[in-house]
Amino acid sequence: MRKHGWTVMFVPHTGGKRKSVLLTRQRFHLLVVISVFCTVVLLRLAYGYWQGQRSLADLKAEKDLTAEMQQQVTAQQATIQSLNSQIQGLNEQMNDLGQLEKRVRSLAGLSKASADAESGKVASGGRGGPDGSANSSAVAMLSLHQPYESSASISNLSGRMEICQTRLAELADLLETKYERMRSTPCIRPATDDETWLSSSFGWRKNPFSGERQFHKGVDMAGPLGSHVVATGKGRVVSAKRDVELGWLLELDHGFGMRTRYGHGEKLLVKVGDLVERGQTIALLGNTGRSTGPHIHYEVLVNGKAQNPIKYFLD
Ligand SMILES: [Zn+2]
Repeated sequence: MRKHGWTVMFVPHTGGKRKSVLLTRQRFHLLVVISVFCTVVLLRLAYGYWQGQRSLADLKAEKDLTAEMQQQVTAQQATIQSLNSQIQGLNEQMNDLGQLEKRVRSLAGLSKASADAESGKVASGGRGGPDGSANSSAVAMLSLHQPYESSASISNLSGRMEICQTRLAELADLLETKYERMRSTPCIRPATDDETWLSSSFGWRKNPFSGERQFHKGVDMAGPLGSHVVATGKGRVVSAKRDVELGWLLELDHGFGMRTRYGHGEKLLVKVGDLVERGQTIALLGNTGRSTGPHIHYEVLVNGKAQNPIKYFLD
């Protein structure tokens, strides 16, 4: 019986002996199976190779990324280190500023105000003072590994700067007020010409007209008619009138509860509402009103009460 199949013949080109192989159906099926198996194996190997190449590329990318991140971390550490130094410098400057503020307060005679500020507004804020004595230890330095503490340090420093700013503004206001008070306080003689002199003192005296004892609420300065009468401190003219007793009379309001009066003027050189400076000529010495001779009657009033003007003469 003949088998089903094919005969495959190999004919050499060199003219040698021919060979024939009988390819039965079973052999054909076996050949197909082997071919399919080999194809699958080759495909699997190719896929594995491709996967390997891809993993290598991924690893290289991750390596590059890691190196880049390391560079970023190094740069951030350098930045934090720099901030660390800057904050340390700012803390030292804040401490210096606090000391400077104390010196200025001391020189301006405002130590009490400083103490009040420390126990009052600043203490209520619970943030300590600019001298840093209570707070400096709490101001942690920037840590390379603890960004939370770094943030707290900056916040703390910001708080101290805010307090310092408030205190300096308060100090500026106090100094401004003090300076204004110094400018306004009557502290020179109302008649500064060489020919003028003190002719009558403050206090009880005999009235030159009636002969009775009378309280003299100011001092008198005599001098040539027309001598200069000057404002003894910065102030505003609140009265310029003719008075039966004191003749041509000027009254200045210096603020802070202080007023001065200048009587017996020959002529007034300012009017109500004028702002005058210390040393400015405001009238000419005269003999108007009840007067025994050319002179100026000068009063210093503090909260309406007459003071001895001599105590205010610094010149
Ligand atoms: Zn008088």
